[in-house]
Amino acid sequence: IRQEVQHSEKLNVLSELAASVAHEIRNPMTVARGFMQLLNQSQVSEEKRTMYTTMVIEEIDRAQSIISDYLSLAKPQAEKLENVNISLLMVKLMNLISPYASLRNVQIELHTAPSLNMEANADKLIQCLVNLTKNGIEAMPVGGTLDIIGYKEHTKIILEIKDNGIGMSQEQIERLGTPFYSTKLKGTGLGMMVSYNIIKSFNGSIHVQSELGKGTCMRVSFPSLPESKSSME
Ligand code: ADP
Ligand code: MG
Repeated sequence: IRQEVQHSEKLNVLSELAASVAHEIRNPMTVARGFMQLLNQSQVSEEKRTMYTTMVIEEIDRAQSIISDYLSLAKPQAEKLENVNISLLMVKLMNLISPYASLRNVQIELHTAPSLNMEANADKLIQCLVNLTKNGIEAMPVGGTLDIIGYKEHTKIILEIKDNGIGMSQEQIERLGTPFYSTKLKGTGLGMMVSYNIIKSFNGSIHVQSELGKGTCMRVSFPSLPESKSSME
């Protein structure tokens, strides 16, 4: 299944998003507060104390996931653009996601061509790639291989993140990027929306190719910087 993802109407919901994110964070806070009140009672058994504490920690973790998935959107839009070298960026990405991948039995195979340079904000680009690679890892519940590939095609830099996981139906692909759309027990449904926005802000585009039971390839494309304009690091 091939599908060019449309962003325009998804971007329109951005302004309403701050309110819904606040609401989503308030839910776990309310639940955690309730358990804290129960804990505060004098006659709570040891067993219940353990249970309530676990619940409070889970709810706080949930609020934290929502905040970190949303974080790049909450930051001011006027972030600084720099010449980003993709090889260096990939080293940072690997450092961030390797522990998560090995915990889930996922091997990462990285193949990036040398001297790929683009104009972006490195922090935001990393956040986007972390979101995409995390999804790829999470799509392989029994482990597998995640391929991360970077190369140049004409004037474009192409970054591909490929998993051989559960895949998506056409309908699921179409829902990608919709705030709070998640099929995961502990998902936030913010990762793809944040990623789409970051890609768009650097004049890029994303192409999702997926097949149920076979896997998914996220193909991101950005304008390339001419080699002469790039800083040598
Ligand atoms: P979350 O990961 O918190 O669920 P995302 O916005 O990152 O939220 O992703 C939304 C949904 O898109 C996921 O719940 C999943 O159903 C689907 N998805 C995203 N990437 C993949 C992938 N590589 N393989 C299969 N499904 C995916
Ligand atoms: Mg995600």
